[in-house]
Amino acid sequence: MSNPVIVVHYHEAWLKGRNRRFFLRKLSTALRQSLQGISIDRIEKPGDRFVVSLGDGASQHEAIARVEQVLGIAFYALARTVERNREAICRAAWEEIEPLSFTNFAVRAKRSDKSFPETSLEVEAAVGRHLLEKLRAQGRNVSVRLKDPELTCYVEITSGPALVYARKIPGAGGLPANTAGRMMCLLSGGYDSAVAAYHMMKRGAHLSFAHFYGSGAMPGESSLHVASGLARQLVPYQFHAKLYRIPFEPIQREIVRYAPENYRVLLYRRMMLRIAEVLAKRDRALALVTGDSLGQVASQTLRNLVAVDAASRMVVFRPLIGTDKIEIMATAQKIGTYDISSEPFHDCCPVFLPRTPALYASAEDLDEAESGLDVPGLITLGLRSATLEQFHCTGREIKSEISHPGKFSGKKSIATA
Ligand code: ATP
Ligand code: MG
Repeated sequence: MSNPVIVVHYHEAWLKGRNRRFFLRKLSTALRQSLQGISIDRIEKPGDRFVVSLGDGASQHEAIARVEQVLGIAFYALARTVERNREAICRAAWEEIEPLSFTNFAVRAKRSDKSFPETSLEVEAAVGRHLLEKLRAQGRNVSVRLKDPELTCYVEITSGPALVYARKIPGAGGLPANTAGRMMCLLSGGYDSAVAAYHMMKRGAHLSFAHFYGSGAMPGESSLHVASGLARQLVPYQFHAKLYRIPFEPIQREIVRYAPENYRVLLYRRMMLRIAEVLAKRDRALALVTGDSLGQVASQTLRNLVAVDAASRMVVFRPLIGTDKIEIMATAQKIGTYDISSEPFHDCCPVFLPRTPALYASAEDLDEAESGLDVPGLITLGLRSATLEQFHCTGREIKSEISHPGKFSGKKSIATA
């Protein structure tokens, strides 16, 4: 028997119009990149699907796990490929369903090659009959159920072989990676921003990350390792990523010293946005992304969000704004960032936390509160002390490299921003 294949179906919605070829090329690239290191004979595209032929010795389990992370896939399955004749299809269908337990089933056939002599309905009826006879012969108490069957055996007749599978797996959905342009995500060590990043990646955005960290009570106790771990967990969705790491404590100290206490957190946020905006422009990113959720904490009341936003001219996307913590946590579990964010770390923001944070600031209040600060000077300070960690993902392996801190210290890096 030939090696199994993985049949990959994509959402049709984004295929309309002229972008079709562009999206499919990106999806094909993403499949190839995700499967690096696994023996693959070829990836073909007979009709509206990709068919990945696994090579000798390829781990099916590993291949399936890799495809699970590829964005833009509606569903996929490990399938048997057989000659396009009724006997071969019936045999494969039986091998496929025999080990599975179910009480009712249906066969769904699709001909993407209309030159095949039998119609889809004829194939469904013939294969269904065959399976029912074999099941009954084994004394199994099963019936055919066309509406909402427990098990569906799929038969796809392509211009190449026929594909038979019964274990359909939901894909990650969304749009293929790196199809929507660049954005800069403000990544804290918490649950929210990593989930926000995932949502934007799933819509095709390519993200860079900016993380602001304090020094930590003990050496090595800052939030850097957590942000780095989160970026590492997210990079397989888009294959490479930059993480800018900005020491924040010197900036916070200035804010604590020269600005009113109740606005501190909002002023921290404004400085983060400003620095992230400069870095975004350097990277030719067109928008910022944060993990804010309306009303979650004092700094995220509607008024405070608007007042903070006024510091940046770049659009700020907040994909979690209308979600609640339970939904966010569920996504964090699904994408594997939950455990990383649960690690203890020293978050820079609670340091010097005000006793009564302002709930309803206006942009003017914050402008006024910042009047004693050298804002451009603080932006420069942040940029000059930033370091860059670059991640590259090949298959399961993720390499990262930290650039020499000096790289951002020159005037050029700021001037070009
Ligand atoms: P999480 O920390 O992911 O978001 P949170 O509820 O703790 O969730 P806040 O701390 O209020 O949220 O921060 C709101 C948003 O501001 C974050 O989602 C993130 O986008 C940004 N942010 C906060 N702290 C940092 C930081 N240290 N570095 C980068 N971005 C940050
Ligand atoms: Mg946080």
